[in-house]
This record gives sequence, C-alpha cells and structure tokens, in this order.
Amino acid sequence: MLGGVGWRDLQMDGSRRDDERDIEITDVRCVVIEGNFPWNLIKVETSAGEYGLGEAFPGPASEYIEFLRPGLVGQNPFDIDRLTEHMTQLLSGLGGSLGYSQAAVSGIETALFDVVGKLVDLPAYQLMGGKYRDAVRIYCDCHAGEALAESSDADPREIYSPASYADAAREVIDEGFDALKFDLDVRIEDADTATRRLSNDAVEHKLAIVEAVREEIGADPALAFDLHWNFSVETAERIARGLEEYDLAWLEDPVPPEGVDSHRKVTAAASTPILAGENLTRVEGFLPFLTEQAVDIIAPDLQKAGGLLEFRKIATVADAFDMPVAPHNISSPVGTMASVHACATVPNAFALEWHAREVEWWDDLLVREEPLIEDGEIAVPEAPGLGIELDTEVAAEHTAPGEEMFEL
Ligand code: MG
Repeated sequence: MLGGVGWRDLQMDGSRRDDERDIEITDVRCVVIEGNFPWNLIKVETSAGEYGLGEAFPGPASEYIEFLRPGLVGQNPFDIDRLTEHMTQLLSGLGGSLGYSQAAVSGIETALFDVVGKLVDLPAYQLMGGKYRDAVRIYCDCHAGEALAESSDADPREIYSPASYADAAREVIDEGFDALKFDLDVRIEDADTATRRLSNDAVEHKLAIVEAVREEIGADPALAFDLHWNFSVETAERIARGLEEYDLAWLEDPVPPEGVDSHRKVTAAASTPILAGENLTRVEGFLPFLTEQAVDIIAPDLQKAGGLLEFRKIATVADAFDMPVAPHNISSPVGTMASVHACATVPNAFALEWHAREVEWWDDLLVREEPLIEDGEIAVPEAPGLGIELDTEVAAEHTAPGEEMFEL
C-alpha cells in the first residue's frame, strides 16, 4: 500500500453514533458503460444492505477504486466529507487533489450521498442544506462536427456553414430547450495551427455562424459557444470582441486551461462573458480564477471536481465573487442526476450541461415513467438519495468489452 502514515489521521472509527447509523462500507465497485463516453458507474455497498450509485469522469476509475477499497471498507458512509478528504489523502501519491484521483473520489462521494439518502429516507439535495429551485435548467450541447457533418470529405465551409448551425439550433429549440451550446472551434482554414492564431477571415466565419444562430432562435435563448482551449489570447480577444453584439450566455475555454493570466486578459478585453473550469478540481483549483477575476462564469464538472459537497464549496466561493456556475457534464443519467441535486442547492447555478442528445437509450438507463429532461429542465427528485433506479438490463446491454455489470 502506498502512502505511509497520513499527516492527518482521518481513519476514525465513528463509533459514537446511534445504532441505526452505526454501519460500515462493505465494498466499492465500478463498471464502465459505453455511452457517448465511457461512463464509470460506481456502487458503494454497506452492512445495512443498502447501496449507493455514483459516477466518475471517464478514465481509469476502477484502478483507483482498487487502490482506495482497503481504506474505505469498514468506514462509516455517513462521514461523507471526512471520507472525501481521507480518499484524497490516500491518493496523494497518485495525483491526490487532481485529475483521475479526484474523478474517482467524486464518483465514490456521489455514491455515498445516494446510500446515505436512502438510509435516512431523504433526497440528496436535502442532505446538502435544501434547495433553491424545484427544477434545474438544462442546456443542450449541440456539438458541431458529428452532428452537422454529412461527409468528412466535403469542404469544411459547407459542413460548418452558418445555415447548418442555424438548422441544428432550431431543432433543439423546437425540442423545448431554451439554452444551447455549439462548438465553434471547427477548422475551416489550412493554417499553421501551432501558433493558435486565426486569420481575420476565419474569425469572420465564426462570427457568421453565431449571427445565423441568433437570427434563427432570437434574442432570448441562452446561447453559448465552446472554443476548447484552442486559441492564443490575441485571437481569443478578436473572437470575443466580435461576438459582443450577439449577447451570448458565454464563450467557453478560449485559451489553454492552465493560464489564469491569459484568461483574465480575454475576460477583460470584451463584454462577452468568458466561461472556463471543466478541467479544474476542488476549491483550491478554482480559487485563483475567482480571486483574479479571470473568468465570468465557472464550469465545475461534478464527476471530476470532487463530488457534490466539493461542488457546493466551489459554488459558494464563486458566489462570494458574484460569479455564476454552469456545470460541465458529459455523464450518464446517474451523474446528471447527481449534478441536478447539487445545482438545486446553490443560488448561483445558472444551467447544467446535457451532452448526450445522440444517445438513443439515454432515458432507458433509468427505470422511470417520464423522460428525464422535459421542457429543457430536470425536476429535482423527491425520492431518497439521488432518486434514481438503474435499469440493470439496459446497463448490461451497454457495458464496455470485458466489463461485467454489477448486481443491484
Ligand atoms: Mg467545454
């Protein structure tokens, strides 16, 4: 076992507790479901016979869970925050507060909320301090390439035409969404991309796409565009300034993710709101972006940033800077519902991403009467825990090669 002696002893026995809450974690398991991403579903089992489900961001979660299992079995699942810190400390030699470590921690933490909610018969949002809203607004990620492209041989200016974006936007609006996002980092010029610089003509093409979408859907829907960290500060500033008149909800990830200063420059250069943060973890990762006013909106990913409580901490600090949160989300219905609970508990949650429009069995993965998303929002569940029931047969049909669905 790596790690040696922890600098903080976080392995208390939790024995001073009423009998019905004196229970233990007995196992932690992981299965990969092949959605439009490899969805890591995590199950925490307890001595009370109740289990919890969570989801970790795509990556080698099962390896991290194997590593964490000995430190979790025997622990009391009610100590969610302490166990999150305990796991982070155990993983300190494997990235600790960052990357795949926090993805695994996030998934397990979410499963703890699910099981604790079931044990005390309360929805997860209620355990986190209650809710600000009965439903969470969902923004639909409309991609660009795959969703719009008929053929990869065609001229990219024809595939990524303003009209094709406008058509896609109309479809999504007609499905009931009033918030949507497209990729705007599509490549239409043959240039030296290592410079991260775009010609004026290429920038004009992007502006034409945004103009066409705005014209199609009108001024009201929240409209965002993602640049996926691709550009230099100078090019990002030209794009952000050019987009000012279209009153976007945000322009996402204009420059490489690490640079607080470069984000601050782009944010200061134009009135177009700048969003970033899907790569950041825990409060300490977000803090410089908040204190330096480097962005206008942050986008923590609940399956990566540390889990529900860590999201709440991040959102609380952001709110102290009067900054909204619009969580990144590429998860299955399990992680999405966890994000819904968390978004319900903070005042400054603006909208939650949905990235799985092309997954035809999305709604089948949960046992429920109604579609998960209705009229562009998800109702905050009242059932205990995450308020979901996984359809194990559907999950088993979509497990990744070599994976075996766990029993529930
Ligand atoms: Mg993004």
